[in-house]
Amino acid sequence: MARYTGSVCRMCRREATKLYLKGDRCFSEKCAFDRRPYAPGQHGQGRIRPSDYREQLREKQKVKRIYGLLEKQFFLYFEKADRMKGVTGENLLNLLERRLDNTIYRLGMASSRQEARQMLRHNHFLLNGKKVNIPSLLVRENDVIEIKEGSRKVKCVTDALEAAATRSTMSWLELDAKNFKGTVKGLPVREELTTPEINEQLIVELYSK
Ligand code: SF4
Repeated sequence: MARYTGSVCRMCRREATKLYLKGDRCFSEKCAFDRRPYAPGQHGQGRIRPSDYREQLREKQKVKRIYGLLEKQFFLYFEKADRMKGVTGENLLNLLERRLDNTIYRLGMASSRQEARQMLRHNHFLLNGKKVNIPSLLVRENDVIEIKEGSRKVKCVTDALEAAATRSTMSWLELDAKNFKGTVKGLPVREELTTPEINEQLIVELYSK
């Protein structure tokens, strides 16, 4: 599967907001956005002409980048969300949140989605007791995600769980750090997606043109 391999901090600077793509670094003084809060490139500090289209495009790019997806993958999620019952924008966020790599990140078993994806690819996890290495898999209610026994002493896992112990997990997830397990209790809650702020309606408007 194709993936973006460039600098992720450029994305935060382009979207003019912190997207928290690099785990602990995002909370440290090394954060590139904190040091240079303007768009990358020669004209990064130039004047920007506002327009509805620009706003919609930037919102789509922002969400796509938060979840680490490329255009085609993101559009497929949108199409799926559009076919589902209910509000398309909320369906879209619901699908993105239910991705296995995101769920592992939200549980606190990895410090970023990128790290969660890499660990998944390296077979460090079990889903309902079975080996799993597909980041895009959608979790369902009552799914149990577990760190494999042989991977429980991996430094990034212990560091991430230590950090997770200091924050609260999202209400639809439950972390049992002692047993290296996490449970999906229900569906993602839209109101909890506040950092960074997302206006999914702008994405719907962009794709509906
Ligand atoms: Fe880089 Fe994280 Fe700062 Fe974004 S928030 S610029 S990913 S360190």
